Amino acid sequence: MPRAQRRWDVIEIHAERGLTYAFFAICCFALSAFIFKFRGEGSLIPFATLVIVIGVGFLGWAIYKAIEIKKTMRHGVICPLCDFENELISAPTGDFVCSNCQRMVPIENGTPIDVAQVKCGYCGELNYFSEKTEFLICEVCNHQIPIDTEASRKSTGKKVAQSFIVTSDDNVYEFILVAHGHKTEELIDVLQHMLALNRNQVKQMLNELPVTLLTGITRRKAEMLQAQLAMHEAATEFRPMTQSRA
Ligand SMILES: [Zn+2]
Ligand SMILES: [Zn+2]
Repeated sequence: MPRAQRRWDVIEIHAERGLTYAFFAICCFALSAFIFKFRGEGSLIPFATLVIVIGVGFLGWAIYKAIEIKKTMRHGVICPLCDFENELISAPTGDFVCSNCQRMVPIENGTPIDVAQVKCGYCGELNYFSEKTEFLICEVCNHQIPIDTEASRKSTGKKVAQSFIVTSDDNVYEFILVAHGHKTEELIDVLQHMLALNRNQVKQMLNELPVTLLTGITRRKAEMLQAQLAMHEAATEFRPMTQSRA
């Protein structure tokens, strides 16, 4: 049994069978009428009667299916992601795919749970997640969006939106090189790539620390660059810029 049966799917199955039985019934009645017309001396009458009985049987089945369709319960579940009402036959027993937005609707105790939005740190697209989300992959760029599951476990009740954070941070950051170690040559190479500057410009920069390397980048990007430069013994820091992108 699927976790959520769509009402129209169920109706379609009933209707298909009902129409098939109705068609058989009509065939039986037509056949018996035909036999009756050419009954000759009456020896075919019992056969015609038998065909009628079978036809009535099929008609009964067709009517039964029509009643089933009428009885098909309607249980509407509003998708929290697109506000579309999914018509099911009963409360869903688990997550199901919304027939409008094709996203997974998180279900708990038969009803959808709250979803929160998070902005992808790579492409800026809004993505949705819920308490149940363990891995979040951006719908547009397929990068993984980190969500703070640890914090969500510690949080109480349904205040998930506040406990999951990370890339919902709308601030833009300034990325600053504070100090560097002995691997200067390596660092110069990396910075040349990162900043598209020539070797002399980078060397010059390293003599004037601290220096702002980049401005207007996301926290996520700043964290990644920090980790990258740390491998080359460079100390960096980032701070939010006063202007927000919002
Ligand atoms: Zn939807
Ligand atoms: Zn993305």
